[in-house]
Amino acid sequence: MTRPRELFVPARISHVETYDPGEVRKVAFTLPETFEVDGRPVPIRDRMHPGSAFLVKPFGVRTQKYRRRMYTRSNCSDESPRVLETIINDTHKEKADTSPWWQTDDLVQRSRTGGSVDVCVNYDETRSELVVYQNTQTVDPTTLVLEADHEWRSMRIVAVALSTGITPFLAYVRYMKSRAFGGTADGHFSLIVSVKKPRQLMEHQALLDLSQEFPQHFSYHPVLTREWPEDWAHGKGRIVRVLTDEGQETRVNLAPLIALEPNLSQCHVRFCGNALAKDQLVLGLEQAQLAPLSFRCETW
Ligand SMILES: Cc1cc2nc3c(=O)[nH]c(=O)nc-3n(C[C@H](O)[C@H](O)[C@H](O)COP(=O)(O)OP(=O)(O)OC[C@H]3O[C@@H](n4cnc5c(N)ncnc54)[C@H](O)[C@@H]3O)c2cc1C
Repeated sequence: MTRPRELFVPARISHVETYDPGEVRKVAFTLPETFEVDGRPVPIRDRMHPGSAFLVKPFGVRTQKYRRRMYTRSNCSDESPRVLETIINDTHKEKADTSPWWQTDDLVQRSRTGGSVDVCVNYDETRSELVVYQNTQTVDPTTLVLEADHEWRSMRIVAVALSTGITPFLAYVRYMKSRAFGGTADGHFSLIVSVKKPRQLMEHQALLDLSQEFPQHFSYHPVLTREWPEDWAHGKGRIVRVLTDEGQETRVNLAPLIALEPNLSQCHVRFCGNALAKDQLVLGLEQAQLAPLSFRCETW
């Protein structure tokens, strides 16, 4: 089978919102309705699944080159076709390249002056259309693509998101909301979001409102790990606590997580965040002899 022809289309930087200066930003790119290929305008179709990632070329501040990077989409193709939204953090890693660029004034300046970022699309010559690239459509333990409608409607899902790991689950929430969270089906989606400080909370009020609008289908548990206001009524401190004595085996205390979701073994657990935290969660589940109905995760 021949691989589809890959093209990069300039998408206008249509939204930049800073949650925590220098640390976390929401960005959105708007693709045109058509793009010229071989001298002809070809329509751009957006069929991305909730939980999948798109591919763009941000600027690398370390390498001084445009690089290829993937970002999980936080909105939905059916509600916002060709508007790709995501949330990006500075990794602060020694070799960090593009992640600090997203936090710069350069990005804001580009968005104010109609600037664009190149977004990957695949050219389907037989159907004469360009299709927004998505990294995967496969539902398996190493992806977070949402299950089919007839499945998630009756699943009890607990999603644990660390910082920008909320992106796939924001897409879930928006997708599920547009389908009334499955209506009369008995599914439930519980979103646990852990960030360091209040200003890093993403879509906080909208998620609180939604949990009140659909209490039978959706709950939201924001957790602050480093700073919280005096009147903070939600979780405080790490939800997965690692206890290591010198020379002893690592013990993981999941009590704060279990306090939020007592029936983990009756739920489908999803995780998005860093690899170390994922390993700690998996170890904690093993040590507590809690086997969720299924476990799927992505780490970046
Ligand atoms: C499916 C997926 C979804 C993601 N979603 C998000 C999201 O929603 N939000 C978010 O903030 N981040 C997301 N990420 C992470 C994001 O793509 C970047 O990796 C991250 O922002 C760090 O980028 P960076 O350029 O600073 O550093 P890195 O990507 O860690 O790169 C650091 C250095 O490693 C080199 N390098 C990177 N990749 C390779 C490679 N494959 N081979 C060789 N060298 C390499 C680079 O050239 C650079 O010098 C996602 C990643 C994946 C895979």
